[in-house]
Amino acid sequence: MATVMIVGSGVVGMGLAMLLAAEGHEVTCVERDAEPPPGDAEAAWEHWDRRGVNQFRLLHTFLARYHQVVTRELPQVVARLEADGALQDNILRGVPDFITGGWRDGDERFDVITGRRAMVERSVAAAAENTPGVTIRRGVAVAGLLAGSSAAPGAIHVTGVRTDAGEELLADLVIDASGRRSALPAWLAAAGSRSSRRWRTAGSFTTVATSAPLTAACRSPSVGPCKSTARSAP
Ligand SMILES: Cc1cc2nc3c(=O)[nH]c(=O)nc-3n(C[C@H](O)[C@H](O)[C@H](O)COP(=O)(O)OP(=O)(O)OC[C@H]3O[C@@H](n4cnc5c(N)ncnc54)[C@H](O)[C@@H]3O)c2cc1C
Repeated sequence: MATVMIVGSGVVGMGLAMLLAAEGHEVTCVERDAEPPPGDAEAAWEHWDRRGVNQFRLLHTFLARYHQVVTRELPQVVARLEADGALQDNILRGVPDFITGGWRDGDERFDVITGRRAMVERSVAAAAENTPGVTIRRGVAVAGLLAGSSAAPGAIHVTGVRTDAGEELLADLVIDASGRRSALPAWLAAAGSRSSRRWRTAGSFTTVATSAPLTAACRSPSVGPCKSTARSAP
């Protein structure tokens, strides 16, 4: 069992928290926006102040892969979403048979789930807050990383986070789910990470290319070594 700190309580942060808690880990999500989720979907749409998510008042379609994963791993999330009014759709149902060749067994794997972002986020939050092992702290902004003694030359060992109020929160593993404007590259640099990494943001994803393996920075004895996805910087 590991203590895991997740920075950001959006759809990704809370989903990840539930998955890790199901594996027996003790997970804390810290979220900069202070306001807790309202009691129902309508109130979330009308009143919930979520400045950290710009697209909060838009319709979202969560694609088939997300739908498959939550259906399999987190059925309580799908149940909550459906109870709150989320709709399921499948683009293939609207495409003429002469293009698709007609509906085939297995095409339901392309089902998506869709709803107003405010509603979806409230539903996911309701499920997360009812998950044993998950704690969500709102109104807590991370300002930087804590680093312990390095396990390898040039590789920092992240031991927790420091909040903008000066609080130090320790964890075996820190995961950044703070969205596409993540300050992680700056935090890593400030903590002494080597500068050979290049960060690229495309759409909602940030990728890192590195000439050094990330293992020492993300290894936790109780979680086990991270699978390195590092590749050489061009
Ligand atoms: C206009 C638009 C439309 C989109 N439409 C779709 C769609 O239809 N379907 C789809 O799947 N995706 C869509 N996306 C992408 C989707 O919204 C993102 O992929 C998704 O929001 C990522 O979720 P997340 O939890 O990683 O990050 P976010 O939702 O951005 O959440 C990050 C959280 O971290 C918090 N945070 C940030 N910094 C800190 C800090 N220092 N300390 C503590 N907390 C912090 C923020 O307050 C926020 O709550 C759209 C994106 C945009 C911009």
